[in-house]
Amino acid sequence: AGGQDGEVGKARRAAAAGEEAGKQPTIFSKIIARSVPATVLYEDDKCLVFRDVAPQAPVHFLVIPKRPIPRISHVGPQDTELLGHLLVVAARTAQAEGLADGYRVVINDGKHGAQSVYHLHLHVLGGRQLGWPPG
Ligand code: IMP
Repeated sequence: AGGQDGEVGKARRAAAAGEEAGKQPTIFSKIIARSVPATVLYEDDKCLVFRDVAPQAPVHFLVIPKRPIPRISHVGPQDTELLGHLLVVAARTAQAEGLADGYRVVINDGKHGAQSVYHLHLHVLGGRQLGWPPG
């Protein structure tokens, strides 16, 4: 069984590495393709907004580009307009969700940022008093 676990571990690490390199579709590509279900709040030709499956606040949704950029540290000048659009959509959706008392927009990057899905996403969290600094 130890050997099997080793094989599974190896496969998982390979899958994670492939995702990070942008070579494999992540769960978010499947949500865009609608092969994995999600509660979609907004969609246009450039982005998709859906509720986080494990919410960390009463309102917690994700804004993702349809083009699969793996992480914020990989963006370049060609992404300026798209990134601006994601922020504007985040703010508009927060307003539609009734977050008049404020909210937080977060992008996790890489290992130290605790990124787990390597398809760029903005977290929007609100509906309660948040603390600072984050963990
Ligand atoms: P990260 O840690 O910044 O990469 O955040 C990934 C987020 O995606 C986490 O908050 C997860 O709860 C969320 N997540 C993972 N899989 C799904 C899913 O299938 N639907 C919605 N949210 C997801």
